Amino acid sequence: MQTKLHNYNHTKIIATLGPASESSEMIQKLIRAGADCFRLNFSHKNAEEFEPVIQRIRGISKSEDSYIPIIADIQGPKLRIGRLPVEGVILKDNDTFTITARDIGVGNAQEVETSYKNLSKDAVIGGRILLSDGTIELSVEKISDTDISCRVLIGGTLFSNKGMNLPGAKLSIDTLTEKDIKDLKFIAKSDIDMIAVSFVRSAEDIKRVREIIGNTRTPVIAKLERPEALENLDEILEQADGALIARGDLGVETPFETVPYMQKQILERSAAMGKWVTVATQMLLSMVRHNRPSRAEVSDVSNAVIDGADAIMLSEETAIGSYPVSAVEAMVKIAKEAEKNMQNIPPNIDAKKAVFSVSAAGAAVSAAERLGAKAIMPLAGSGLTALHISKWRPGRLILALSANESTLRRLNVLRGVIPVYLEKHMDMENQIKIADQFLLERNCAIKGDTVVIVAAVPLGKGAETNTIRFHRVKGA
Ligand code: PEP
Repeated sequence: MQTKLHNYNHTKIIATLGPASESSEMIQKLIRAGADCFRLNFSHKNAEEFEPVIQRIRGISKSEDSYIPIIADIQGPKLRIGRLPVEGVILKDNDTFTITARDIGVGNAQEVETSYKNLSKDAVIGGRILLSDGTIELSVEKISDTDISCRVLIGGTLFSNKGMNLPGAKLSIDTLTEKDIKDLKFIAKSDIDMIAVSFVRSAEDIKRVREIIGNTRTPVIAKLERPEALENLDEILEQADGALIARGDLGVETPFETVPYMQKQILERSAAMGKWVTVATQMLLSMVRHNRPSRAEVSDVSNAVIDGADAIMLSEETAIGSYPVSAVEAMVKIAKEAEKNMQNIPPNIDAKKAVFSVSAAGAAVSAAERLGAKAIMPLAGSGLTALHISKWRPGRLILALSANESTLRRLNVLRGVIPVYLEKHMDMENQIKIADQFLLERNCAIKGDTVVIVAAVPLGKGAETNTIRFHRVKGA
């Protein structure tokens, strides 16, 4: 498969792999349908269990001639109830129900255990406990050393190991669990491109992840799903390489009606601060069971694209759904249509900081606009200049060349960026020749068309981005 180009969607698509999509055949189909990145959810597997999946993705990406990055999404301190009978238990409105730290084995309709031993410390009388993604609601009536007795406000059928949220409570649990630390140590040694950290509350959480992985190259993405993360948004964005708007838990931890506003605010701050951002969860949820999205879902995806998301993410739709390929295809169609019709209002980028790459990116984008350039071409080693160009959402091709495969994979999640492989590190003139050839072969430009080049000269020596050059495409 050739690098996708013609009428390509600029907003990138992340597909979560799971039982419905982990096979080689499905990975290939998802890439062909338009998946740009795969997410591995460490809530459902241990690090070692993902090793064969990682190898499969690498093998298939290579045969598909594409650079598909892998995001490891570590579980974090997700609170859960313990075991219940397989058929679940029915909690009726007004029943009493106890959550206990005692070891009771399989629970029943009166009580269930939790492995979270600090629940009695964190719960407050009159506070709410939400179970099973917020579908069951309890009010806390009595607290002892081990037991939290609750009144059922909204009942339903409850199954084993479902999630438990205490909206508004300050949890004493650490952001990184023992499992997370073990997984991070594995991730540090494996071929993973990005790490998403669940339930981030402060910039410190991101610093700790970096300490554990012991390198600064792997991008660390903050999953925004706790109210504290919103309170500390700028500090977290400053420290992290990007953000993932985890609307699933966010809509349980905070009133669901506030999520759309928070999403817009996070997208705006991420643009302003030059940080990569993805919108996630329930984007095409009905496609878990149906092969067409609901109109409201189409509108949601479209609005995320218009509001400037760099990527949009599928979870259950591709992990356990019946139509993973159709879900990716639907996202591609919606993104293309939104990008075609959206007004190109430049984002409000905070250019206060005197950073060369941000200023050069802004100048290159406005020059490209004036010149009607067919492409903008960042020639910078780490991909930072490509990120800043991409954050201006120029609506035109951003061609990023690199001889480093892990850089190419990371470039593949940036909005509008197409990574192009260089066989070896080359000087500027030779890179431009490769780009000309690429543009002509794929009918993206004709001889004489303009390309805007942004570079850190001397190339490959760690210089700051310092050069903008205009170039006319030359024939072979
Ligand atoms: C979410 O809560 O929206 C999310 C992406 O996290 P997870 O899928 O790990 O629950």
